Amino acid sequence: MTHEAIIVGGGQSGLATAYYLLRAGVDTLVLDDQPQAGGAWQHVWPSMTLFSTAEFSNLPGWPMPAYDGFPNAEHVVNYLSAYEQRYSIPVERPVQVRRVSAEGQVFKIDSPNRSYAAQHVVGATGTWSAPFIPTYPGTYSGTQWHASTYPGIESFRGSTVAVVGAANSAAQIAAELTAVADVTWYTRHQPRWMPDDIDGRELFRRNRLRALAIQRGEADPGADSNLGDIVMLPEVLKARNSGRLKATPLFSSLDEVQADHLIWCTGFRPALKPFRGTEGIHYVGYGDWVGPGAATITGVGPYAKAAARTIAEALGKKVK
Ligand code: FAD
Repeated sequence: MTHEAIIVGGGQSGLATAYYLLRAGVDTLVLDDQPQAGGAWQHVWPSMTLFSTAEFSNLPGWPMPAYDGFPNAEHVVNYLSAYEQRYSIPVERPVQVRRVSAEGQVFKIDSPNRSYAAQHVVGATGTWSAPFIPTYPGTYSGTQWHASTYPGIESFRGSTVAVVGAANSAAQIAAELTAVADVTWYTRHQPRWMPDDIDGRELFRRNRLRALAIQRGEADPGADSNLGDIVMLPEVLKARNSGRLKATPLFSSLDEVQADHLIWCTGFRPALKPFRGTEGIHYVGYGDWVGPGAATITGVGPYAKAAARTIAEALGKKVK
């Protein structure tokens, strides 16, 4: 059977795209390699929260249920799971897509157990499965982690820890570790703190304005980084203001790192391996590479809609 559309990835980006495709009457299937709904939010570290409140964390159609403060990952996972059910989004899991290739007018989507076929393919595989660690000279003999594998503070109690990175995950992880460990926070430049009262709301508003300007063909008004990079979540603010969270200039060789643990908070890359070399795929999510705010819960909607509209129109259908 050839589906009209297959979406690879069943996180928020895949679900938002499915929402619009299904509303247009497009025969859609989502393939996701996780055993359950929730995408990357199932794997984040225990204390990680959204930096936007629930009312600013909405997928198209149905707002996130209320939450007091910044929602934790469990709240996000429950929301994504309920969203999937609410709109009867057909998701097959766990199905790991290894390769998407074009065969004439049809795409062939291969997983270890079976192959699928679709007229259109959406890539919504996110970034979590592609953590990025830069290369440095020298050797380090302690235990290395990436933010994507950071298990929370308990494993680090009483130890020395080096945290690398100048953005939000590094600031959050270093801040909470200062309560239990001797932390050296390495940054390539001085931390760029956002004003204390700026949270996800303002960021999403700016991302939206930026995306609209780009869509209208106007000059790019610039990224949010002119505001600073680090959102002042309560734990980060407390650690910085008490002097516990201080940055140290980045090492030039791993030989300089003496800590028991080294945690790389150095970001992610789009997980595009299955699509490499194949043209004509629609990409949703992933971040600035797709468009401002595209990786966020609130920001993904317009990109999901645009991809769904292109697919629906090619099939003679219309996104409502
Ligand atoms: P994912 O959630 O990663 O979903 C992709 C799905 O595809 C996953 O289930 C994955 O396992 C699956 N997949 C991958 N490869 C394959 C394959 N080959 N075959 C089948 N399935 C596959 N956003 C906000 O709105 N607010 C925030 O506060 C916020 N904080 C963030 C903090 C961090 C540290 C990070 C990394 C991101 C944050 N984001 C935030 C951004 C965003 O919400 C997440 O990155 C989100 O997980 C992106 O959703 P997604 O659907 O694009 O990708």
